[in-house]
Amino acid sequence: LREKIRELELSFTQKYPPVKFLSEKDRKRILITGGAGFVGSHLTDKLMMDGHEVTVVDNFFTGRKRNVEHWIGHENFELINHDVVEPLYIEVDQIYHLASPASPPNYMYNPIKTLKTNTIGTLNMLGLAKRVGARLLLASTSEVYGVSLSWTNAIHCMKERKKLLSLENGSSINSAVGPFIAFKLHPEVHPQNEEYWGHVNPIGPRACYDEGKRVAETMCYAYMKQEGVEVRVARIFNTFGSRMHMNDGRVVSNFILQALQGEPLTVYGSGSQTRAFQYVSDLVNGLVSLMNSNVSSPVNLGNPEEHTILEFAQLIKSLVVSRSHIQFLPEAQDDPQRRRPDIRKAKMLLGWEPVVPLEEGLNKTIQYFSRELEHQANNQYI
Ligand code: NAD
Repeated sequence: LREKIRELELSFTQKYPPVKFLSEKDRKRILITGGAGFVGSHLTDKLMMDGHEVTVVDNFFTGRKRNVEHWIGHENFELINHDVVEPLYIEVDQIYHLASPASPPNYMYNPIKTLKTNTIGTLNMLGLAKRVGARLLLASTSEVYGVSLSWTNAIHCMKERKKLLSLENGSSINSAVGPFIAFKLHPEVHPQNEEYWGHVNPIGPRACYDEGKRVAETMCYAYMKQEGVEVRVARIFNTFGSRMHMNDGRVVSNFILQALQGEPLTVYGSGSQTRAFQYVSDLVNGLVSLMNSNVSSPVNLGNPEEHTILEFAQLIKSLVVSRSHIQFLPEAQDDPQRRRPDIRKAKMLLGWEPVVPLEEGLNKTIQYFSRELEHQANNQYI
């Protein structure tokens, strides 16, 4: 009988990933909006394993129950199907506000909803933070910095604009150049640090997301100044890892899927645009450090190791040992040319920096994607 009881105890404790014991005074009640998504589910894992009580709120627009199902039934965990555009009344100590579609196909699918989520949703969460005295961390984005035009692009834009103005108004080329002189005197900011105010097209295809996040940041600081709400703002740069969406349309998932399926790896433009990618566990550690720090101004969280998109395609192709070839397609509108975080602030104030090497992160992600493809092929779920 004793053995049977021991077996039962073991099967119960093994049902969930291991959870640290925290005394009641150290244990926090934490809300994660968007907690069933890619980043949110990894954050849920960390905070649960650290011994906190975690409530995940998600409308499952891009998130999946499967990302957090291993916690369902655990006494410290709760999953609520709720849209942050509607107010929420719960008692919490900290709010990680991640709810928002994050990849271009997802946020462009319904731009009005993306705007509502980032504006009304953020207001609702700040209202909740104010009511219950919780600290709120906003998952903002490097896209608040917008398009950092390269010098050649700037000159190209200037020429196009000159042509347009002289055609439309019969104005001289010199008067048309005027608006660009200021731009000429201010070269691009690269890598982007937190002082840069950005260069965003308010009516471009990405505006619902970029401008939505910019106003979400504004709301945070208005609540901080006017209502004394404690806020933290993480400007997150490109992140990858397991549980990222297969069809999210971003470079890593596209290339891995294409390489695994023997399809051409599609590079938009020349492939000289750069991106810097961080592995999701690095980001999650950064988010938790920021939340628990006393830094209320925005902080970049990303990996400064920059690669061209073409290098990325070649690396993934070789890690997958794929026979796919690389195919060049026309450049996408408003596609940022360069994107690399300046993380000196995070290093200095949080003692944080990414530690997972790119190849290690990519190999883990490749394994995840190939398992997903296998599962799909076996029709185990859609
Ligand atoms: P994701 O799409 O996997 O997760 C977002 C989650 O929010 C999903 O579970 C989705 O269902 C949920 N959601 C969306 N609208 C909602 C609403 N109205 N109410 C409730 N839930 C809603 O994306 P992710 O990559 O995990 O991104 C998480 C956060 O981090 C987002 O705010 C995103 O803007 C930010 N971010 C991510 C990256 C990245 O590279 N992944 C980069 C910059 C910023």
